[in-house]
Amino acid sequence: MPGPVTEAPAEVGGYALKLQSFSERTLLPRLEPPTRDFILGLAMAYRFTFQELRQVAQAARDLEMWCEEPLEPLWLRLDSAATGTGRERKKALLGSLQRHLLELSRGPKAYPDEGLAAPAYRRVRLEERQTDKEIFGLCPAYSDRTVCCGLYTLDAVRGCPFGCSYCTIQTFYGEAAELEADLSTKLAAIELDPDRRYHIGTGQSSDSLVWGNRLDHLESLLGFAADHPNVLLELKTKSDNIRYLLDRQVPENVVCSWSLSTDTLIRNEEHGTASLRRRLDAAGSVADAGIPVAFHFHPMVHYLDWRDEYSAVARQLVERFNPTEVAFLSMGSVTLIKPVIKEIRQRGGETKILQMELVPDAHGKLTYPDAIKLELFQHLYRELSAWHGKVFFYLCMEPSHIWEQTFGHAYESNEAFEEDFLGALL
Ligand code: SF4
Repeated sequence: MPGPVTEAPAEVGGYALKLQSFSERTLLPRLEPPTRDFILGLAMAYRFTFQELRQVAQAARDLEMWCEEPLEPLWLRLDSAATGTGRERKKALLGSLQRHLLELSRGPKAYPDEGLAAPAYRRVRLEERQTDKEIFGLCPAYSDRTVCCGLYTLDAVRGCPFGCSYCTIQTFYGEAAELEADLSTKLAAIELDPDRRYHIGTGQSSDSLVWGNRLDHLESLLGFAADHPNVLLELKTKSDNIRYLLDRQVPENVVCSWSLSTDTLIRNEEHGTASLRRRLDAAGSVADAGIPVAFHFHPMVHYLDWRDEYSAVARQLVERFNPTEVAFLSMGSVTLIKPVIKEIRQRGGETKILQMELVPDAHGKLTYPDAIKLELFQHLYRELSAWHGKVFFYLCMEPSHIWEQTFGHAYESNEAFEEDFLGALL
């Protein structure tokens, strides 16, 4: 550990005041008190700048959330191997800390056998609210720099009771999810061109099925689909709440999709959602009822046993579903914008979702390096070879070169993709 501070008491007091104001703008207040005190001690001893304090507090938060060796024993270990004094020693220690974090991000991450702790149970109310928000729009992630399907989103409900660690809808809307009070009126006011086809999804701001038909919103959405045969309406879920769909006639242009993941990821990163078995059973019942189903593997996550576990999911899909029952299957990687990363760190709790090498993509969003993405996509696509040429496969938010290396082709434009996709399904 560094030697005692040798400045005059007035200077020490001056830095202490500065440190207090620095601390409030870092993750320090969110850390466990012993870790916070340890970092404050280091900051006083080494006279951390604001950036250094921010960096160390963030490292402590990541280690805490990833359930890796905590900062204090790690720092003491690095300190025992460090040389030099003063600034030189500080620089060496901060460098070693960053290298350690990078190694943990790049290395294969292992989930503990006992699983990561789930966040505290949240009871989320569904409340009808009159809002002046737009409920219909182009997918917010749509871009000309990626090969995009041209999805439109329909936000009938905003907020989600599930606790997926890579999503911030839960924190954004808190304990009350809002359902558009005048949903039928708003749906009737959506202006669609009768001469073109649309793919519209309701699962961007909530889970499409978790609320069942509360306050009749699914009935309104199915009515909207029946009124617009040029629309492919997608209800996307991680639940098994399908009773409402099985009890009635569902328009032919409705597809029910499941977001799928491996058992390990569902257990550790998708708290509160239905297990893989329950999702697949629900999808099987929906398919048996003659409703087309679809699957999304998004985000695909790279961890120690990913290969075997994604293979297992692919096997179950191929065994349980006839490709004629499956409208499409998409794959996507972990792609996060900076405010979401900040929010995940602020929220805390045990999750390894940020334990990955984050590199900027064409839009400045942070994602896996191409090599990792390709490993994931190529592997799953290969495992689903029985469905090649029979099910429509696509990638979400990926540029042409990733398409080409995954499927052996890419679309020249988003319009061509949309045309092919909707031409195959509507
Ligand atoms: S590919 Fe993904 S990001 Fe692009 S429009 Fe479709 S859903 Fe949105």
